[in-house]
Amino acid sequence: MSGGGVCVLGAGVVGLGVALRLLRTGNTRVTIVAEKFSPHTTGDGAAGIWEPYALGDTRHEDILRWGKETFDWIEGLAQSEEAADCGAFHVQCFHVYRENVQEPIWRDIVHGFRRMTAKELQPYPDHNCGFTYTTLISEGRKYLQWLTNRCKALGATFIQRKINDLTELSSFDIVVNCSGLGSRELARDTSVQPIKGQIIMVEAPWIKDSRIFFDEGLCLLIGTDRVYVGGTKEVGNEDATPNPVQSARIWREMIQLVPSLAKGKRIGEWGGLRPGRQSIRLEAEESNNSISPQVIHNYGHGGAGLTLHWGCAAECLRLIYQTCSPQPKL
Ligand SMILES: Cc1cc2nc3c(=O)[nH]c(=O)nc-3n(C[C@H](O)[C@H](O)[C@H](O)COP(=O)(O)OP(=O)(O)OC[C@H]3O[C@@H](n4cnc5c(N)ncnc54)[C@H](O)[C@@H]3O)c2cc1C
Repeated sequence: MSGGGVCVLGAGVVGLGVALRLLRTGNTRVTIVAEKFSPHTTGDGAAGIWEPYALGDTRHEDILRWGKETFDWIEGLAQSEEAADCGAFHVQCFHVYRENVQEPIWRDIVHGFRRMTAKELQPYPDHNCGFTYTTLISEGRKYLQWLTNRCKALGATFIQRKINDLTELSSFDIVVNCSGLGSRELARDTSVQPIKGQIIMVEAPWIKDSRIFFDEGLCLLIGTDRVYVGGTKEVGNEDATPNPVQSARIWREMIQLVPSLAKGKRIGEWGGLRPGRQSIRLEAEESNNSISPQVIHNYGHGGAGLTLHWGCAAECLRLIYQTCSPQPKL
């Protein structure tokens, strides 16, 4: 394996975000080492809505800081000539609840956040509370490809390899560990666990907004040429394969809430394992060995890797500057 420079371990949205931010500084060597690349990472199947979800006890101030930075980045892409290639666009979202609930902590990051009117809630009997706002999508299957292409264009080296121990990467100056669920073994972190999510992809071009039914655990999210109907949140389930019993339930229950979906054409199903943890781990590892590379951990993004990755990447760069001596050339 080649040495020197920064190794980003993991080529999901979290790793590619770090790699791209490093490469954009223009003067560092970046090697991306991963067992799996797009389209085989967790983010590739995600609708990519900007919304903090399944983040455990991650500190609110961190969620807001990383989330805002990522929101602004995706918004810039959505307004640029890159939008079609990276699958970035604005969408109106409705959050519907049975009972009155508090407004989310991120209400000031999205645009035009307000409570739904009684008329807007009318299609959903027994639901008495709702919010609507404009948020962003960075559709996983397009965004991951775009990130990969950008990293290639800026000179990253890609190495396909399964790593069994971080010491295998000791030829690099710095390792940024973005291995998601793989950190259970690589960082010996038993608090990392899968949170399975399952979705159905549907062609239903007449549906133009996104809807989240919190109490039912259901969502309908817009993509560039499809809608994503979900979902599940199965803590500890290690099997990403879509379960037909769950698919039948998701379809049946969503059609009750959004009857027009019944005429949609189902084009596929997908399951993925969100890298869950009690909170995101984003820190430099204490090293008492001057020969080992400096390790920065950046994993455990649960259901919000696309929502937070760009802000987390900025934090990784700050940590590299702060903790590495002598200063790496970034
Ligand atoms: C159904 C579903 C819908 C979702 N929808 C959204 C959404 O709308 N918005 C949102 O923000 N988030 C969403 N998410 C969550 C999001 O997909 C994840 O938070 C994100 O993909 C995690 O990215 P990651 O890069 O940390 O992990 P991963 O994408 O899992 O990538 C891990 C990388 O590390 C590599 N790796 C692991 N172990 C090793 C090893 N030992 N050696 C070498 N390489 C290794 C892997 O090969 C891979 O390249 C959804 C998730 C699911 C399942």
